[in-house]
Amino acid sequence: MLIFDSLSVRYGAGVQAIEDVGFEVRPGTVCAIIGGNGAGKTTLMRAVSGTLGYHGGRVVSGEIRLGETRIDRLNPHRIVQHGLALVPEGRHVFGELTVEENLQVGATTIGSGKLRQQRVRRAYEMFEALGRYRTRRASLLSGGEQQMLAIARGLMSGPEVLLLDEPSLGIAPKVVHRIGETLREINRAGTTVVLVEQNAAMALGVADQGVVIERGAISMRGDAAEMRETEEIRRMYLGGS
Ligand code: ATP
Repeated sequence: MLIFDSLSVRYGAGVQAIEDVGFEVRPGTVCAIIGGNGAGKTTLMRAVSGTLGYHGGRVVSGEIRLGETRIDRLNPHRIVQHGLALVPEGRHVFGELTVEENLQVGATTIGSGKLRQQRVRRAYEMFEALGRYRTRRASLLSGGEQQMLAIARGLMSGPEVLLLDEPSLGIAPKVVHRIGETLREINRAGTTVVLVEQNAAMALGVADQGVVIERGAISMRGDAAEMRETEEIRRMYLGGS
């Protein structure tokens, strides 16, 4: 279970980006965190992956727990070792490295070479295109393929929880659908998925549970399918009325 408990985050001396945010992600589910520009979604991802400090931010109160472990004071490497992996916004694959080398970069926390090879094979089973392009430089892949590579790299550490920050950003609609299917597949194979998205239609379509963040605080949460039918969500995030 991933738990956000009365979490507040600040940048520098002033900006309060997250205020008193509390919710739980049940094991084995998909949770969508949605909200508009500047709502605080990325800040939440930074907090949970231990990267706030690189951006001048810090947790000022509350905590984040993964199972029994308090993770909000751990460094990113330790957080990965505790079973949580982040696929950051903007993909950030290493363009000069091959597909396979990118996967190996995601496997640095695995001591056993045999396990590393097993996970690489598994990535190629799940993402066929990556298998075809294993020796190709990542910069030569399409945007959708690079996103798949970023997701596959996130899975290399064998995480209990996979966090994705805006995986649909800048991706063609047809490929967005494919990414959604892939996330469900990953979830069926036993990984808890936390998805941060501006694309509420995709996120709530894939998720079991939804959380809406506005100006750093939770404004709504509940069952994702029910939320999709909610008047306010339709008007604000799904472009309907
Ligand atoms: P977007 O979808 O546009 O990335 P978001 O929901 O991810 O938005 P955040 O990037 O988390 O929102 O930003 C939340 C608030 O924190 C905003 O007011 C933003 O200006 C502020 N903020 C984000 N990063 C920093 C930073 N490094 N220093 C100071 N303020 C920041």
